[in-house]
Amino acid sequence: MDIRLCKKCGFILGTRPGLKEVDGVCLACINCENKKNIDFKSRQEWLTEYIKQNKTNQEYDCVVGVSGGKDSHVIVKKLIENHGVKNPLLVNTTHGFKRTQAGEYDLKNLVNHYNLDLIEYKLKPKDFVKETKEDFFNDLHPLVRFEEKLYDIPVQIAKQFNIKLVFMGENSAFEYGTSEELEIFNKKEEDVEVIYLFSIHPYSASGVYNEAKTIGFKDLDEFDDWQRQGTIESFSQIDTMGNMIDIYTKFHKFGFQRVSDMACRFVREGLLSREQAIQYIKDNDWICDEGARKDFCETLNITEEEFNQTLDKFANKDILVKDANGNWRRKDLI
Ligand SMILES: [Zn+2]
Repeated sequence: MDIRLCKKCGFILGTRPGLKEVDGVCLACINCENKKNIDFKSRQEWLTEYIKQNKTNQEYDCVVGVSGGKDSHVIVKKLIENHGVKNPLLVNTTHGFKRTQAGEYDLKNLVNHYNLDLIEYKLKPKDFVKETKEDFFNDLHPLVRFEEKLYDIPVQIAKQFNIKLVFMGENSAFEYGTSEELEIFNKKEEDVEVIYLFSIHPYSASGVYNEAKTIGFKDLDEFDDWQRQGTIESFSQIDTMGNMIDIYTKFHKFGFQRVSDMACRFVREGLLSREQAIQYIKDNDWICDEGARKDFCETLNITEEEFNQTLDKFANKDILVKDANGNWRRKDLI
């Protein structure tokens, strides 16, 4: 199989499920250009009015699903500072992986900065381990069920509290190029509306990072418990260690993981050239972070051998080859 890369950002084409392309350019790049034609100002004016009209609970304006990361900081900041929200109810859903110092700090910071109520929803530990293990061994997609819960639990809590609006961050179908439309709402729920805040305020990873820092967000570099490998930044998905394995496993199935996602995003944001992005991907995307692997294996009670065997079983040999050290690498970038 010929390995093709997006002509604009360098992302691998033909492997990400649902990723569309036109003349060798990925839809994520096309969407990023098309964002310039979206009237975000009128979306923002609409949202302020919509929130006012849809306050169904005396105390809370809305629910926000938060991890405590940079995106959570900016969602809450925008709602309060730009859209007249006074009292959002935050919902944080957690699993069994090890929280980082940055993760602990940032969630506390967000809650304290605006003095908000937070519901911490902890999943049944044995069920989490059982489901994550099954999905790792059977599909090499360990957090597929957890990701569904990240969406469902804030929605269910909103229903319990008779709150109509639930806010989430990115519309990932648009940002990652599987849909042309930057939809504001997610699928209609009964009695609840799920709104993507980054369909109202255009998303950029670097922009959100800088804005989050203005209200006290800290990245991994400000703590010394995790020198993360296999990434090119220290501000994205930093709240727990083991969950990083979920995206890492995409490398074995599809030939990309977080380094590709971030580097190609930085190309679209004008921070890297395509050539620089490809170099970053070549040097880093295949690397498994030791701390993440250790936390993942310990939490799920599996051996490193079982871990490696499962990666071998699913490795996509059309695009990957094992190097002399036993690491799976992209054929076009070794
Ligand atoms: Zn692209």
